[in-house]
Amino acid sequence: MMMAFEKIQFLKSVMALSGLPFDEGVEIAFAGRSNAGKSSALNAITHIKGLAKTSKTPGRTQTINLFQIDHLRRLVDLPGYGYAKVPVPLKRKWEKILSEYLQTRECLKGLVLIMDIRHPLRSLDEHMIEWAVQSELPTHILLTKSDKFSRGKAISVLSEVQKNLKQYPLISCQIFSILNGEGINAARKKVSQWCLLSQ
Ligand code: GDP
Repeated sequence: MMMAFEKIQFLKSVMALSGLPFDEGVEIAFAGRSNAGKSSALNAITHIKGLAKTSKTPGRTQTINLFQIDHLRRLVDLPGYGYAKVPVPLKRKWEKILSEYLQTRECLKGLVLIMDIRHPLRSLDEHMIEWAVQSELPTHILLTKSDKFSRGKAISVLSEVQKNLKQYPLISCQIFSILNGEGINAARKKVSQWCLLSQ
């Protein structure tokens, strides 16, 4: 069975964890470096164009955006990290918020971690993975923009990333592209499974 994302609706944007809805139901979060393709992936997976604003100016969105799938379930668009032009104190602040969210949010049942296939596993990605592993949070990595590589090269990067993470049974990984559609269904299926398993 597939989760119906068609009725998904914007719920709210928050600047701090205190603004989040009551910690109940199911949340599936999307995270990644600025410009990795998170908004595009969210849009492709939920079928709703413009759901999360895509932008060519990375680092602009510094809020947590929540979308309601149904009365129990939410998708959470976490702020992109690693954008060079964001002042250091603000970066630290958001890193702290991200780590706290991943480590304390009870209703968080899955993390979709977006990485540009050309620059996988940068240090902040590894921090995210560490926090997810510590919290035993199932994590699915999308290696986005796979269209930038030949199929052979994309598969070889995927294998390399999988090899690096093979000690973590709760982490899975796939290639993804909004341009040629590769992996969109697989990603949708994963998010859907998480939504439906945890009720
Ligand atoms: P975000 O900052 O992580 O939300 O990234 P966006 O979704 O705004 O995407 C950043 C840039 O990458 C935009 O110019 C997108 O058009 C581009 N992009 C996103 N996904 C893909 C993809 O699968 N293939 C290609 N070639 N470009 C992509």
